[in-house]
Amino acid sequence: MPRVPESGSDATTTDVPPGEPVESGDLSRVAADLAADAHVRASRWDQDGGLPDSVRKEVAASGLLAADLPERYGGAGLHPLALGEITARIGGECSALRGLLTVQGMVAAALLRWGTEAQRADWLPRLAGGELTAGFAATEQGAGSALGSVETRIEASGRSGHRELVVSGHKRWVTFGAVADVFLVLGKYEGRPAAVLVDAERAGVRREPVNGQLGMRGARIAHLSFDGVRVPRRQLVAPPGLGLSHVVGTALDHGRFTVAWGCVGMAEACVEDAATHAAVRRQGDIPLGDHQLVRSLLARAAVDAAGARELARRAAQARAAGPGHGVSETLMAKYAAAAAAAAGSRDAVQVLGSAGCAPDSRAARHFRDAKVMEIIEGAQEVSELHIAERLLRRFGDAARGTDRHVRPRLPGESP
Ligand SMILES: Cc1cc2nc3c(=O)[nH]c(=O)nc-3n(C[C@H](O)[C@H](O)[C@H](O)COP(=O)(O)OP(=O)(O)OC[C@H]3O[C@@H](n4cnc5c(N)ncnc54)[C@H](O)[C@@H]3O)c2cc1C
Repeated sequence: MPRVPESGSDATTTDVPPGEPVESGDLSRVAADLAADAHVRASRWDQDGGLPDSVRKEVAASGLLAADLPERYGGAGLHPLALGEITARIGGECSALRGLLTVQGMVAAALLRWGTEAQRADWLPRLAGGELTAGFAATEQGAGSALGSVETRIEASGRSGHRELVVSGHKRWVTFGAVADVFLVLGKYEGRPAAVLVDAERAGVRREPVNGQLGMRGARIAHLSFDGVRVPRRQLVAPPGLGLSHVVGTALDHGRFTVAWGCVGMAEACVEDAATHAAVRRQGDIPLGDHQLVRSLLARAAVDAAGARELARRAAQARAAGPGHGVSETLMAKYAAAAAAAAGSRDAVQVLGSAGCAPDSRAARHFRDAKVMEIIEGAQEVSELHIAERLLRRFGDAARGTDRHVRPRLPGESP
């Protein structure tokens, strides 16, 4: 049985106790400025091959990357609720930009929780400071939802096996994979899941940029090949056996949290665009908003967005208790928020009509991106399986060993 590294829980606890007011001060203003810029430019990024390097560098210098890391690792110790609000603001304008924050946060969260102190000290300040852009490389051709089937091999190399590892395999759909400096790679080491950091400039790393996909077009996505890439053994994160359940599990949990908040922003933006249009646009002499069927679309989208926000808030409050908390709440929030963004953007495009089909329509871009949100970080069906699994465990555990079970009440039996 591999030794489970200490979770470093003291390293990950935020300074703000649950329920306390959350301050994000300057970062909130920085995020607002970034969102305002994205409001104007995101369509261009979407159509012209992706988020420019200059914007990526601006974000890196802004302090917004991995801002939930503790201050001693270069972060701002942001409370999950503050991180969520910032993510929603940016996600409401541009999913690709939100994706940059998400991936950096995923890799940082995994290292914070499962990395050694030397790994944390080495990598985290560079991730938080934006000196390095991170990529998360788990998916393969034959392993998407079922990541346990990855075939990438991580092997100790011959004579220098105690010092070097060799990574070989093919990864697909890596967000910011075309430009990232380092990848957190999921593979198998002696048949067991393992995660390793691979620097992008090492010999044997090849990137194949992906263009023209349905959504997240600005996210500089790439497929990657690792052809016998040698990395120092110290870049193995946690012992083999824990690569998927612990390291990648933590990264995905963090990813779901920020994707949930990004989707809240998308759903709310779509309500805003649709309601504004319906209020001012007239057909014949009648404002669109006077049609009851249009009102029905608006009302449903607004309720879905508000519900998603509440679930995301609940997840944030649960996560404030520290690492490993709020996993169930986060699953639910991501599931509901992705559905709200997908349905809300679809209906916003409907209400906007041809304006919603225009090349620079925010609702149209959210419509394409939101569909992707229902697939990544756990497809909706897979999320349902996980949510139900946790329910069955919780209620099953509570019922077992007692005589509690559900049966029809007999006539005359008191409740
Ligand atoms: C834009 C974009 C960005 C991405 N970024 C990254 C990244 O940065 N890093 C990374 O590693 N990966 C990334 N991915 C990959 C993404 O995580 C996978 O696409 C996702 O996990 C689904 O895997 P798959 O595409 O192989 O679909 P499959 O696993 O083949 O599933 C296809 C469909 O089958 C259904 N399904 C699958 N399993 C089940 C089940 N158990 N029960 C019921 N139904 C099921 C679902 O409807 C699912 O949508 C990205 C993908 C996209 C499109």
